[in-house]
Amino acid sequence: MSFFRSSLFKIGFPILLAILVYLPNEQLFTLLATYQELLNALPYVLLTLVLFLSQPFNQGSTGLVSLLMLLGYYVTQNWLSLPIANDTDRITFVLFATLLPLNILLIHLLPEKRILSRFGAAYCGFILLQFLWVYIALGQLALMDISWLWQSFIKPLPTISPAPLVVIILAFLLTLISALLLLFRGNNYEQSIFIALLFSSVLVLSFYQPLMPELCFSLAAAVLLITIIDSSHELAFIDQLTELPGRRALEIEITNLSGLYTIAMIDIDHFKHFNDTYGHRTGDEVLRLVAQLMSKNKGKGKLFRYGGEEFTVLFKGKNANQCMPYFNSLRTRVAEYDLKLRNYKSRPIRGGGVVLKMKPEQVEEESVSITVSIGVADSLSELSPENVIQAADKALYRAKNSGRNKVTNLRFA
Ligand code: GH3
Ligand code: MG
Ligand code: MG
Repeated sequence: MSFFRSSLFKIGFPILLAILVYLPNEQLFTLLATYQELLNALPYVLLTLVLFLSQPFNQGSTGLVSLLMLLGYYVTQNWLSLPIANDTDRITFVLFATLLPLNILLIHLLPEKRILSRFGAAYCGFILLQFLWVYIALGQLALMDISWLWQSFIKPLPTISPAPLVVIILAFLLTLISALLLLFRGNNYEQSIFIALLFSSVLVLSFYQPLMPELCFSLAAAVLLITIIDSSHELAFIDQLTELPGRRALEIEITNLSGLYTIAMIDIDHFKHFNDTYGHRTGDEVLRLVAQLMSKNKGKGKLFRYGGEEFTVLFKGKNANQCMPYFNSLRTRVAEYDLKLRNYKSRPIRGGGVVLKMKPEQVEEESVSITVSIGVADSLSELSPENVIQAADKALYRAKNSGRNKVTNLRFA
C-alpha cells in the first residue's frame, strides 16, 4: 500500500495543514489581505468544483460534505458579520458552530449515494428545514433577553479564543470521533468527512481572526480535491482484491520502458481445481494471500496483478539471468508456505476463510499448499515490451508443461 493511502497520511496530512493555518503568521495575512476579493470567491469556486466532481466520480459523502461547506461558507459571509455586535450575532455564531460539525458528522451514518438522486433531494430538504428552524429560533430569541446564556453556558475563554469553549470542545470532539471511525472502519470515502470536520473545527476556534473562513474552507476544498483525484486514480489503477497495481498500471508502466529490463509472468497452478474444491470465496482469500506473500519476496521488482490468477513482475536494469535467484526464491517461498483453511467443509462458501495465526485447538484446520509457475524473459532478446511479455508467457507455458512449480527462462529453456 502506498504511503499516500496509509492512515497516517490520510489523517496526518490534513492535521498538519490545519495546524499551519492556525499558527499566527502576520506576514502571510498581510499578503493575503491584498488578495481579499480573490480569497472571498475561492471557497465558492473550489467547493463547487468538488461538488460537481463528486457526482460523476460517485463520491456521495464528498458531495454532501462539499454542499454543507458551501452553505457554511455562505453563512459565514452573509450572516456572521464581524465584529460581533449583539447577542443575536453571538447566538447565530453558536448555532453555526454547532450545526455545521453535527451535520458533517452525520454523513458517517448516511448511505454513500449521489446528490442527484431521490436521497439527495430528501437530504436537501432536511438541510432546508434546519435553516428554517434557525431562522424562526433567531426571530424568537431576538425578542428575549439572552445575555444570561452568554454569561453562563456559552462563555468564551478569552485566552484560547473568543468563541465559546463549549462549541470548540464539541467541534474537536466530533473531529476525533470522525478520525476514529475513519481509522477503524477503514472506509476510504469517509476521509472527506474527517477533513471537513477538522477544518470546520479550526474555523470555530479561530473564527474571529480575519480571513479564517476563506482560508479554512479553501484549504479543506483543496484537500477534498486531492482525495477525489487520488481515489479515482486508485479505482483505475489498483486492483481491489489484492491491492496490487492492476493491468492498466502495467500497460502505462511498459509504455515508458526502455533499456534493460526483465519481465516475469506468474500463474498459480491448478487454481481452477482449488476453486472447485474450496469455493470461490476461499479462492479469493488465497489470491490475496499469495499476492501479499509475493509482495514481500519480490526483491526490487514491481509486482502487478495481470488478471485472474496471473501476476507480473517487472525488474528494471537487470537481465533475466540476474533476476533468476529472486524468482526461484519467490517460487519456493510460495510453495513452502503453509496455508491453513478452516472449517471449509461445514461452510464451504461463507465460512471458508484463510487463518494465518490461529491456535490449532480453536478451529478445525486443513493445511494446503499452493504453487506457482513462472516464465521469464528480458529485453536483451526482444524488441518491444509487448514482445517481452509474450516471450515470458511462452516461458510460462513451458514451465507449466514441464510439471508446474517451476521457473523457466526462455533463453535457456
Ligand atoms: P494451470 O495450472 O494450468 O494454470 O491451471 P489453472 O486451473 O490455474 O488454470 P485455468 O486458466 O484453467 O484456470 C484459472 C482459474 O483461476 C479459473 C478461475 O476459476 C480462477 N480465477 C481467476 N480469477 C479468479 C479470482 O479473482 N478469484 C478466484 N477465486 N478465482 C479466480
Ligand atoms: Mg491462468
Ligand atoms: Mg493457473
